[in-house]
Amino acid sequence: MVNQFQGQARKLKQLLVNAGIQHEAVLDMMETTPRHLFMPESLAHKAYENTALPIGDGQTISQPYIVAKMTELLLAANRPMQRVLEIGTGSGYQTAVLAPLVEQVFSVERISTLQYQAKRRMKLLDLHNIQMKYGDGWEGWHSKAPFDGILVTAAASRVPEALLAQLEPEGGRLIIPVGEEQQELKIIERHGDTYQQTSSGGVRFVPLVQGVLA
Ligand code: SAH
Repeated sequence: MVNQFQGQARKLKQLLVNAGIQHEAVLDMMETTPRHLFMPESLAHKAYENTALPIGDGQTISQPYIVAKMTELLLAANRPMQRVLEIGTGSGYQTAVLAPLVEQVFSVERISTLQYQAKRRMKLLDLHNIQMKYGDGWEGWHSKAPFDGILVTAAASRVPEALLAQLEPEGGRLIIPVGEEQQELKIIERHGDTYQQTSSGGVRFVPLVQGVLA
């Protein structure tokens, strides 16, 4: 990134190292992805701070630490991450961090204005291994399943059945914040009909809403 944000981006990477992120490729993406392009220009001066920020329509771009953490948890699965489903495209920031690290990303969003802007950003950044769908993330993306990994970037009141069903049976991995006031980041790995669940601690996300906007 050759611009006025380079120094700030390097500091953000160091902050993430100090916070425990270890995966080198993830750290590199956190440093090189131009987060200032994923938010209103008036907030760009805060883009490399480790905080969530408003992106319109009552939604937020996720905190850099949580984006790095979720990406790292996904890549730690015991199978190559070729096809990854993301629920909650939002600004497209998590999508852009993830796309260079996997073969294909499929991303679902229920607010069309956000999806439209995210699509423009993917073009601008020359990211071509991403397909986006307007729809309800509770349903996943049936026609593109199964997925090696699924990342949900909004908090679900319970784990959506459709997402469990769309995981690869041999070690497919779902990373999902679950809860309402109190939320926990869950890691669920599928082995046939068995779903192994672990938790990575408390988080704070906007809710995974039921249904799309008309
Ligand atoms: N990864 C995004 C996070 C955006 S916030 C980023 O870093 O910018 C969560 C997003 O999930 C919002 O854009 C919201 O509209 C979307 N969302 C909420 N419920 C949804 C649902 N049921 N289906 C699809 N997207 C949903």
